Amino acid sequence: MMNDCSIAIYRFNVFFFGSEKTESLRAGRTHVCDDFVAEPGYFYVKGEKRWLRPLIDRTIPFLKVKMMCKQGEGHVFLLKATSFPNEPNAYLVVFTDITALEEESKRNEFLATKDPLTKTFNRLKFDEFFTREIHRAKRYKHTFSIILFDIDHFKKVNDTYGHDVGDIVLVRMCEAISNRLRDCDILARWGGEEFIILAPATSQAGAYRLAEALRHLVATVHFPKVGHITCSFGVCEYEQGMTKEQMVKRADEALYEAKRTGRNRVVVSECICRGE
Ligand code: GH3
Ligand code: MG
Ligand code: MG
Repeated sequence: MMNDCSIAIYRFNVFFFGSEKTESLRAGRTHVCDDFVAEPGYFYVKGEKRWLRPLIDRTIPFLKVKMMCKQGEGHVFLLKATSFPNEPNAYLVVFTDITALEEESKRNEFLATKDPLTKTFNRLKFDEFFTREIHRAKRYKHTFSIILFDIDHFKKVNDTYGHDVGDIVLVRMCEAISNRLRDCDILARWGGEEFIILAPATSQAGAYRLAEALRHLVATVHFPKVGHITCSFGVCEYEQGMTKEQMVKRADEALYEAKRTGRNRVVVSECICRGE
């Protein structure tokens, strides 16, 4: 026997999943949480029968969940739940499909924080991470480093192979570097063919090793048509009391020194340590 609510769930199941899911309906349960997809940013639960409780109690205002529809596409739903005054075991759970809204919000976030070509962070977002890291370093007496790097003779790549090929070099290089970095490291496009890395909890020696590894990595990647490229790196570790501007200036001077002394090398601010 189906009531109005189970008919609604039945219709939803047929429309969305392409199945009736009658077994769960007969058992008097929806088992809807079994269909949630485990993905960062979305509520997910397994084997927890009382997962609706915080929604009903209003401890949390809503949940955002992801489910796969019958065509295999992910849909995002906003879940709200309420209980009926005289029916302790009856709840009204409303699923609002917010997939289009979610996609637009992700697109807007991407445009506001990332460089569209390389998909690395833009300067604005980098500045936000940088400010936070300076505060953290001051407060907890932590250290961190920044690495500024620039492609060597990139103008020649564009002049020889064209701007489109140059663009592919930028994209592939950033992919290779992103794959090598830790999740907590921040890679951003500083401008043109110049990039910056914020390496949390990393001393000058650690940042030097990282920059050397990246220098080696870039030099070994084979880029379509172009073949091999190199980069020069400038490293600066935070010292108590330094400002963001002072750190960037020091990293920039070190990068300049790397360029001046032959390129394809890493220079650490103040203490000059050269690559091979
Ligand atoms: P150096 O070793 O001194 O850095 O030499 P360079 O040729 O790399 O430096 P320069 O500043 O003379 O040239 C930078 C070049 O980078 C010129 C510019 O057109 C190119 N560039 C900047 N942004 C982009 C981009 O988004 N795509 C492409 N294809 N090229 C870019
Ligand atoms: Mg350059
Ligand atoms: Mg440059």
